[in-house]
Amino acid sequence: METHEQGNETFRDSIATISEEGKRAWIFPKKPNGKYYNYRSWLSYALLIILYASPFIKVKGNQFLLFNVLERKFNIFGFPFWPQDFHLVVISMITTIVFITLFTVVFGRIFCGWFCPQTVFMEMVFRKIEYWVEGDRGKQMRLNKQPWNAEKIRKRLTKWFLFFLVSFFTANVFLAYLIGSDKLIMYITDGPFLHMSTFVGLLIFTGVFYFIFTWFREQVCIIACPYGRLQGVLLDNQSVVVAYDYKRGEKEKGRAKLNKREDRNTSGKGDCIDCKQCVHVCPTGIDIRNGTQLECVNCTACMDECDSMMEKVGFEKGLIRYASIDEIENKAPFKFTNRMKGYVAVLTVLFGILVGMLFLRNDVEARILKVRGQLYEKLEDGKTIRNYYNYKIVNKTTEEIKNVTYKLISVKKGEIKVLTDDIITVPKQGLTEGELYIDLPQYEIKDGRAKVKVGVYSGDKLIETTMVGFSGPRTFR
Ligand code: SF4
Ligand code: SF4
Repeated sequence: METHEQGNETFRDSIATISEEGKRAWIFPKKPNGKYYNYRSWLSYALLIILYASPFIKVKGNQFLLFNVLERKFNIFGFPFWPQDFHLVVISMITTIVFITLFTVVFGRIFCGWFCPQTVFMEMVFRKIEYWVEGDRGKQMRLNKQPWNAEKIRKRLTKWFLFFLVSFFTANVFLAYLIGSDKLIMYITDGPFLHMSTFVGLLIFTGVFYFIFTWFREQVCIIACPYGRLQGVLLDNQSVVVAYDYKRGEKEKGRAKLNKREDRNTSGKGDCIDCKQCVHVCPTGIDIRNGTQLECVNCTACMDECDSMMEKVGFEKGLIRYASIDEIENKAPFKFTNRMKGYVAVLTVLFGILVGMLFLRNDVEARILKVRGQLYEKLEDGKTIRNYYNYKIVNKTTEEIKNVTYKLISVKKGEIKVLTDDIITVPKQGLTEGELYIDLPQYEIKDGRAKVKVGVYSGDKLIETTMVGFSGPRTFR
């Protein structure tokens, strides 16, 4: 008999997916079955629909989600973000990181098991195809051992072909996030040879997805994912994780196989019947009975499996369940700790700032900056000072802005004149640049400097205002 409390920590000396010879030990997890697996399946179908559909959904003409790094165009929930909005992207990212951190402190790696794209694709797409083509754990292990006969070749080729199709399709959608779905559709219609570099990129993405889900698999979570490696810092005894109730599972005499002739309640043996189903079902190959481990992605498969074993032998369910170490050791109820309160406070402030900035953000941005190296010019009348400027108008909307003019708002006398265009039009989701000058009477300039408020109009409608610095001679007061 083996017990949890014997302090046998040898499992920490190795990882389940590497053999003693240092080679990859392939995991053949049993197909999960149960309440949590069903919930996870439904959630992952919803997530997959969102993921595949998002680049093709338009909000007011904007792609719902777009991460065009090359052209520096980003749309989040249909809101276009320009390089000028970079501060918003940074605050959104900080807020997301704090949110995930808080979530991890309270609920452990629930994100990994339920929401992470790696788990969703691996367990809900590629693994399901594998079960469909090769069968459950036993059949897969047999197939793996058998020589390359007709059956093995057929099954493996079918699986790899389907994996390639899914990877190729996913790579196309991934590309739609990067270059925009309209462009992707145009490229597909044109054919790959007209857009060779994009096509090569597509094949590279396909190859990366294929490699990850066909071969690398759980290694992403175990050795590559930085979030996974942070668990040791973020989790504490109050964090809720997928946990084995070793107090109940081991009792005084430890876990033991079921003996129908003995009364388990009086035998002193734990409720764990050592069926190892929780180990066989685990996609990272660990034994959750050893305690919380870095490899555990909280996928709940062992909870389902153990519950079904408990049901079969007539014991209470929940031997493996969502619980904190405190709850298992001391039956302590969930506590909202000071650390959690701190994270909530920071998150609330960040979220408030983000919402405020989103509301204050303008669909049109105008910048008027002095031409470099030029101070001012005194006109022939001797009373007027002229400054030259470069202007830029960014239009983040999906409508063209026509008939744009500038007017001086904060001064009664003076003139603003565009030099480059007679009629300014700003294309949708584009920008217009040019040159202009501003004339001010000398008495408007105090101490050689003035600030002028300039209005940007489309027809008669004021669409943006901007403050412009003006310089002149110091002597005029
Ligand atoms: S131990 Fe359980 S929850 Fe953790 S990865 Fe394995 S099966 Fe999933
Ligand atoms: S599935 Fe449950 S009963 Fe079976 S070995 Fe795992 S913890 Fe024990």
